[in-house]
Amino acid sequence: MKAYDGMYIGGAWRPAAGQDVIEVVNPVDEQVIGTVPAGTAEDVDTAVRAARGALPGWAATPPAERAARLAALRDVLAARADEIAETVTAELGAPLKFSQAVHAAVPIAVAGSYAELAATYAFEEKTGNSVVHHEPVGVVAAITPWNYPLHQIVAKVAPALAAGCTIVVKPAEDTPLVARLFADAVHEAGIPAGVFNLVTGLGPVAGQALAEHPGVDLVSFTGSTAVGRHIAAVAAGAVKKVALELGGKSANVILPTADLAKAVNVGVANVMSNSGQTCSAWTRMLVHRDQYDEAVELAGTAAAKYGERIGPVVNAKQQARVRGYIEKGVTEGARLVAGGPEAPRDKGYFVSPTVFADVTPDMTIAQEEIFGPVLSILRYDDEEDALRIANGTVYGLAGAVWAGDEAEAVAFARRMETGQVDINGGRFNPLAPFGGYKQSGVGRELGVHGLAEYLQTKSLQF
Ligand code: NAD
Repeated sequence: MKAYDGMYIGGAWRPAAGQDVIEVVNPVDEQVIGTVPAGTAEDVDTAVRAARGALPGWAATPPAERAARLAALRDVLAARADEIAETVTAELGAPLKFSQAVHAAVPIAVAGSYAELAATYAFEEKTGNSVVHHEPVGVVAAITPWNYPLHQIVAKVAPALAAGCTIVVKPAEDTPLVARLFADAVHEAGIPAGVFNLVTGLGPVAGQALAEHPGVDLVSFTGSTAVGRHIAAVAAGAVKKVALELGGKSANVILPTADLAKAVNVGVANVMSNSGQTCSAWTRMLVHRDQYDEAVELAGTAAAKYGERIGPVVNAKQQARVRGYIEKGVTEGARLVAGGPEAPRDKGYFVSPTVFADVTPDMTIAQEEIFGPVLSILRYDDEEDALRIANGTVYGLAGAVWAGDEAEAVAFARRMETGQVDINGGRFNPLAPFGGYKQSGVGRELGVHGLAEYLQTKSLQF
């Protein structure tokens, strides 16, 4: 157990204004592994001032130089990949292999993508008798969750810095250690003082102070819909720009012509990955009634294999919440095929990989984001029915379509109200815009669309 000290503000670790700390717990054994300072409004104010002070210089830094700093950051992250993976495993509980392959590797790829985009993006364009300049939005407040803790930081910091913005990050309470490691990496990469700042702290205290701060021009938030709605309202008061990445209840639509076994197995893996704590997880599997029983059997078998491999969920509150949803599924009449509400181990915040059959679209487990290793399998009669079910939630973040013929899958995907659809198991693309239709959010992250979120236009007429 280590008492970490200080906030990274203005290019150095500075003592926090207050005395309070946040305990960081390893979800595998429930041991406290460290403490970090709980930031106050005073810390936030110091950090925002540092970001404002650094803004003119960084905004005027040529894009090629910003690109070089981002490339250096990518290299530092790559050199420290093992340390990143071990840190995420310690504070989130993810199995080490998954931390290496995803929690460390994806942010490195994203940092690299913005090093390239900063160097190649057209920050100036001509239209008619105008020259349009794409200028940085200003000081960014980034409020991030714990489920992909470094990725969600880098998906905001890298495009913001590429655009010429400066930033203050308030990471999730459960995963501040990888955020601190990232601050060290930023320092090592030679990014000028004040361009990146980190304040650890509680959401309603440090997060709230950051969202409210008059020195912030854009608030970029990833997390729950409830907090996102609150942050948007706070920001609206000062007419700040807002970007929101919120929840999901994504549909995995298996059309009758699909390779059923493959679609079911990949679908189960998608939900169980990161212990179900993925906003874009395909938590609803939609299967034609003629193939339903076979799909349920396949899914039950696949889920059983995850019993020993799956990590815990992040904390006791999430464990109780997920188990509450499982109990609710049983009460509402869904049929348990694998798993259940009982904790599979005495210690650690583990939840059994759970599969429900006979789920109907109106059930709570078919509508609300559970954020745990829980899959709901729904039956559809025909394609129109499948589309109604797929589009029948308040969310629209991701999804999947499987069909024998790619064109058939694409035709279905085009009718889905959602920001991303993987066709027949299409791979994650760190350059593809990521973000939600409907209540899954506002704005897009990653790639060129993610960069555009941090830019505003000025047109000069000649
Ligand atoms: P949360 O929305 O409460 O936390 C996300 C971030 O917002 C954290 O940094 C938190 O400190 C901060 N925050 C909380 N209250 C705030 C406030 N009043 N002002 C400013 N910042 C504030 O999420 P959570 O409690 O960790 O998880 C709850 C549920 O949210 C999960 O079960 C899941 O359904 C959902 N969730 C979704 C995502 C996603 O990526 N879409 C990520 C995490 C959680």
